[in-house]
Amino acid sequence: MFINFLDRDLIRKIRSEFGSPVFVYDQKSLEKSAQDVLAFPNAFGLTARYAMKALPTAAIVRLLAEAGLHIDASSGFEAERALRAGVAPEKIQLTAQELPQDLKALVDQGVLFNACSLHQLEAFGRLFPGESVSVRINPGLGSGHNNRTNVGGPASAFGIWHEQLDRVLGIAQEYTLKITGMHTHIGSGSDPEVWKRCARISLQIAAQLKDVQRFSLGGGMKVARMPDETSTDLQEIGRAVQPDFETFATETGRRLHLEIEPGTYLVANAGVILATVMDVVDTFPSAPGATPEPGTGYRFIKTDTGMTEFLRPNLYGAQHPIQVVGLDQDNPTEDQYVVVGHCCESGDMMTPAPGDPESLAPRSLQTPTRGDAILIGGAGAYCSGLAGKNYNSFPEAPEVLLDRAGQPKLIRSRQTLDQVLSNEILD
Ligand SMILES: *Cc1c(COP(=O)(O)O)cnc(C)c1O
Repeated sequence: MFINFLDRDLIRKIRSEFGSPVFVYDQKSLEKSAQDVLAFPNAFGLTARYAMKALPTAAIVRLLAEAGLHIDASSGFEAERALRAGVAPEKIQLTAQELPQDLKALVDQGVLFNACSLHQLEAFGRLFPGESVSVRINPGLGSGHNNRTNVGGPASAFGIWHEQLDRVLGIAQEYTLKITGMHTHIGSGSDPEVWKRCARISLQIAAQLKDVQRFSLGGGMKVARMPDETSTDLQEIGRAVQPDFETFATETGRRLHLEIEPGTYLVANAGVILATVMDVVDTFPSAPGATPEPGTGYRFIKTDTGMTEFLRPNLYGAQHPIQVVGLDQDNPTEDQYVVVGHCCESGDMMTPAPGDPESLAPRSLQTPTRGDAILIGGAGAYCSGLAGKNYNSFPEAPEVLLDRAGQPKLIRSRQTLDQVLSNEILD
């Protein structure tokens, strides 16, 4: 099994107790990645935040908070969700595209605010003149694979453009704000050189913001989901940027407290979608089983999951490991399959070519039988929380956490049809 925290018995047990499809998360893997993140090299102290949008379920947020992480919230609602999960307000920082209606109430409780635009900074200044605040800066450097995944550089709307610092200072002066935090999140990936470049450019900006004490390099550490990918070595990228903080301290007298805020790194490989093979069809002109002419058709595995749990292949052409698991034993034969979801939607397909959601890229998979389990790995981050929820009226799938002893515990139940319909009004 490519997933180390599941075996055939556990798969059978989870499917019979909680049904299919179901998300399964592993506490030990989550705690291990939390430890890695908290050991990030730093010159003058570290706060690590969990970017909870990656997987916002309360039990996961609580588990990671108890492991020592603070929280990065992407909306007022998310900040509220973290509070309800039991996270202390002063451990939550709001970095949001949209200013929440209840900003005042959140900040009054102690939630930290990171202004992501000049307008947001001004709005904060009007509500809280004389207070301390953090600003998110777009340092002009991007690192995503394409414009859809870029969160820095001129093609990204996130943060205040680095050439508008004079306006930041102007607003700060007008409302006597103290800019004590500076934040960048460009999605630096796994390349230490990119981290170094981002840190250098951002530190030059921090040099001009004289009150900055907290300095965040954001998240974006990539993890290997597929066997041919490599995960970010946090020690390596941390050590790459640490000397720059020491130099900065020598030059400015300021010992910056480092923050990082990974989402993916913490949860991606701690989660799997456990689903079921519902049907196997092909589009070959010849009889099933006959050797097809290359390029004339495809074999499809139809599953009971798809874009209702799992949009990343459709959005980005993202690659996730997929494995068919026979109920009693594995089938020794393999073939090339396209894996599709259960929605009446041509884009509901889980095996695109890398970075190309439009294309079908058949995978070598074990010959399935209807009813076999099918596992989709790397499904901890941006799956459950970023789903095409309730499309085709499928209810939201449940979530199960394997505790330290490997025992499954329900942390979110399957939606009922009544819940799907609960806000609808007839006559
Ligand atoms: C999404 C997000 C993160 C986490 O990004 P990952 O790629 O999941 O590590 C961190 N900071 C901010 C502001 C974000 O929006």
